[in-house]
Amino acid sequence: MDSFKGRFLSDLIWMSIQITHLGSGSRGNSTLLRNSSSSILVDCGFSLKQTEKRLGSIGIDPSEIDAILVTHNHKDHSGSALNASKKWGSELFCNIGTANRMEWQKEVDCSIISNLERVDFGDGLSIVPVPVPHDGSDNVAVIASDRRGNRVAVVTDLGESTEELVRHLRNCSHISIESNYDHSKLMEGPYPDSLKRRISGRGGHLSNLQTSEILAKVCHRELESVVLCHLSEKNNAPHLAESEVLMGMGENFKGEISISKQDGPEFSHWTGQLESERLALV
Ligand SMILES: [Zn+2]
Ligand SMILES: [Zn+2]
Repeated sequence: MDSFKGRFLSDLIWMSIQITHLGSGSRGNSTLLRNSSSSILVDCGFSLKQTEKRLGSIGIDPSEIDAILVTHNHKDHSGSALNASKKWGSELFCNIGTANRMEWQKEVDCSIISNLERVDFGDGLSIVPVPVPHDGSDNVAVIASDRRGNRVAVVTDLGESTEELVRHLRNCSHISIESNYDHSKLMEGPYPDSLKRRISGRGGHLSNLQTSEILAKVCHRELESVVLCHLSEKNNAPHLAESEVLMGMGENFKGEISISKQDGPEFSHWTGQLESERLALV
């Protein structure tokens, strides 16, 4: 704990964006983005109690969360967002499609953001929501940047990539992206054919191969870290996802790759650092 706090307070970290996955998968997703002036939770899909517990385990009081940004209406991303927003006094943000599907009242429950329009949080942390195809939702990928030019991406729940997304991912120094299923494992697995089609369709999730192809397109020598998220527990395995993605990026990738599991948080990344920090949990 002490080492985490000490590290957290160092100048290096305040000049960068800190990315901590509280956990990722079909049973809940939440990612904390922080810099010296703002703390933003991207998605709030665990129960309120569980979210508070996970924040507490890394020494963060929920009242420190300035904003909660919900990418889309599915429960594993939106579950406790409204309750958390009201309890912690954190402003809730989402696009109009998500607000309508959640039956959240604009300006009462949430503030509306527009796809592809930049939103500034506090002093220096900005977000651009980039629309991605995902059935029954108006889902967005999140591109966060600061005044120093640090850029990070959090991309989950999409059936395929878009040119727009690739363009936004090109200059990121950190990319958290879903790598949901291994195609053979899904096809040979126990799911009914209709569900297999839905997961692998345009509005489903990214396979390891699709994620690998996206990263191969956007990988550059300054890409410091990649975190693979939202891995299916039935249709994937960490070593399959990691090897597929590393093969796709090849020699171009000089950074660090890790996997965010359902039961986090386990580590943090900071832009400008080459190795993630293992969290010493309380
Ligand atoms: Zn979803
Ligand atoms: Zn999801």
